[in-house]
Amino acid sequence: MGRYDRQLLVFGDEGQERIWKAKVGIVGCGGLGTNVSTALGVAGVGHFVIMDSDVPEDTNLNRQYVFCRHVDSREESRPKAELLAEWILGLNPKADVEYHVSRFGEDTWSVFDDCDILVDCLDSIEGRMVLNRYAVEKGKPLVHGGVHAFIGEITVIIPGRTPCLKCMMGDIPEPERPLPSIGSVVTTIGSMEATEVLKLILDRSSRTEGTFLSIDFEDWRVTPVHFKRDPGCPVCRRFGLS
Ligand SMILES: [Zn+2]
Repeated sequence: MGRYDRQLLVFGDEGQERIWKAKVGIVGCGGLGTNVSTALGVAGVGHFVIMDSDVPEDTNLNRQYVFCRHVDSREESRPKAELLAEWILGLNPKADVEYHVSRFGEDTWSVFDDCDILVDCLDSIEGRMVLNRYAVEKGKPLVHGGVHAFIGEITVIIPGRTPCLKCMMGDIPEPERPLPSIGSVVTTIGSMEATEVLKLILDRSSRTEGTFLSIDFEDWRVTPVHFKRDPGCPVCRRFGLS
């Protein structure tokens, strides 16, 4: 019996091989990034590039369980990206994990140039829009996820086929900080992002393309919003997609 037997029933040997060969860029190693990495690590993704500039702190620990023992140990903490890389290798020692202790931006984004898929695990609108611009410029699929208290959201951007994040969000303002955050909601949205990554690897994502899904976990209200590309979107226009 092998560790992937139950998912081979869904993906088959060829699908599992594609999962192993995929290179996934995870931008942000907080609540979403740790959950996405965990789900993809145990699914058998073979190649990761992860980035975050922070070190873990007490206020992260209701959702960023990967770091609990490091923050409690009273040692001077190492960066989240380094600790998460160790965590992924703990799940699958054969994986290839490249980590970067940096903020995502124009000066650092080239480390993701070899990735097949990008995952938005950031927590600011500004950072997300920079990532969206990079994804559209490079033509890379981008899985976006976000959480705010009981509300979660997710969408998949495929440059040239779907609207981009700017088309969907426009100029929405940054939310007030600190951001309210519930660990179980973060875990759910992170797991959904990971599922979208697997679907992209396996070419099974087309059913949800262009749909922005908002979920209110307090009253189980699920709202799919179907977007079209905004002809005035500066990002799509800049890269000749509008
Ligand atoms: Zn756009």
